[in-house]
Amino acid sequence: MPPLHLMFKTVSTCNLECGYCYYSQPLAGRQRSWRIEPELLQKFIPYYMDYVADSHQANLSWQGGEPTLAGIDYFREIVNLEARYAVPPTIISNAIQTNGLLIDDEWAEFFSAFKFLVGISLDGPESMHDLERRDRTGHGSFKRVMAHIDLLRKHNVDLNVLCVIGQHNISRVSELMQFFHQERLDYLQFMPAMAFQATNPMNPPSYLVTAEQYGNFLINLFNQWYQTGVPIVSIRIFNNLLQNILGKNNDSCIYSESCDMSLVVDQKGDVYPCDFYIHPLWKLGNIRETSLEGLVGNPIRTVFLQQKQAFSSECQNCKWVSICRGECPRNKLHRENLSDSNYFCTSYKLLLDHAYTRLTVLGKRLSKYQLYMNNTVNLSASELQPDTNCPCGSGALYKDCCGDPVLASSYLFQD
Ligand code: SF4
Ligand code: SF4
Repeated sequence: MPPLHLMFKTVSTCNLECGYCYYSQPLAGRQRSWRIEPELLQKFIPYYMDYVADSHQANLSWQGGEPTLAGIDYFREIVNLEARYAVPPTIISNAIQTNGLLIDDEWAEFFSAFKFLVGISLDGPESMHDLERRDRTGHGSFKRVMAHIDLLRKHNVDLNVLCVIGQHNISRVSELMQFFHQERLDYLQFMPAMAFQATNPMNPPSYLVTAEQYGNFLINLFNQWYQTGVPIVSIRIFNNLLQNILGKNNDSCIYSESCDMSLVVDQKGDVYPCDFYIHPLWKLGNIRETSLEGLVGNPIRTVFLQQKQAFSSECQNCKWVSICRGECPRNKLHRENLSDSNYFCTSYKLLLDHAYTRLTVLGKRLSKYQLYMNNTVNLSASELQPDTNCPCGSGALYKDCCGDPVLASSYLFQD
């Protein structure tokens, strides 16, 4: 079996009321129950561990609402179940997306002990974050989130930032990046804010930013990221575009050939093919009564997967299609017409027209670096001198090529 990632919509409630968040809005076709009952997980996690045994990888992510509202004992039970039922040598990886408000020393210790990757929602400095990310009393959450990020750091938790892009921050890229740099937040992901009505997958895509605005945001972001070809801060979209330029597997479904990486489980145990397709029409079954094989093999999922394969006429004739891969089918302008264009097409064209040459330069440098890594596995330090030819085969001196100390400052050129 290929690896299968499971995303759990752990709880349906949240302790913030962010201006752009659809969790404070009713969603068509969904009945709310507040969290996935532990007895459902007790039944399902053993099946899942069995299912992924051949791939040796169990990838689980915990989202919400706000998943920490389920309580730390709920998560202690989860890691116990995972450890009890994982078939050696399965590697278990857990990720959680949180607004950070409930994190204290106990949570931070827990995340550290069980190597959770913690995604924190943070929309930039206080002057941007608190415009949207407020609690029910209208108070901003920035100061509390930053204090809790410090706790996570104290416990050496792996941390990344999810920054939602809306009118509150889209034109302030330099300020945004300066803030993340000052706060030493080096793993960043940006996501354009969706309009409420578009969270129903049967409605057309609608975002709180235009495609032109988002394209210009990406251009400015790229300029901040690229530096002199030695990026310091990891930004997921650029990593993903580089993966496609280098012909590697993509870790984002959006830039992959297929939408088959994941399943999503909601609070009632209902399963859907994607977080953006939570709707009765796309339901694959329920974990109480349907096997994982039955969920994965459901004909509704076959129809879902075909959407990514159906490139729009514009994509078919586009020079960027091998890099962008038509982006996410959820963003096709008309749901019923798969040959229609993508809401963010203009954004990608703007970005790639601007950045492609530099991305390919970086891609070539990374390919050389990979050769260097492969060719130095069995070399001793004494064989690797600054004035010898670089093991990557470029013909340049090692000190001027893969041994250039400047490269070591980039996350892309790490051993
Ligand atoms: S529809 Fe979009 S978000 Fe969902 S799996 Fe496909 S690419 Fe990913
Ligand atoms: S840039 Fe637009 S046309 Fe080109 S592949 Fe991406 S979505 Fe399709």
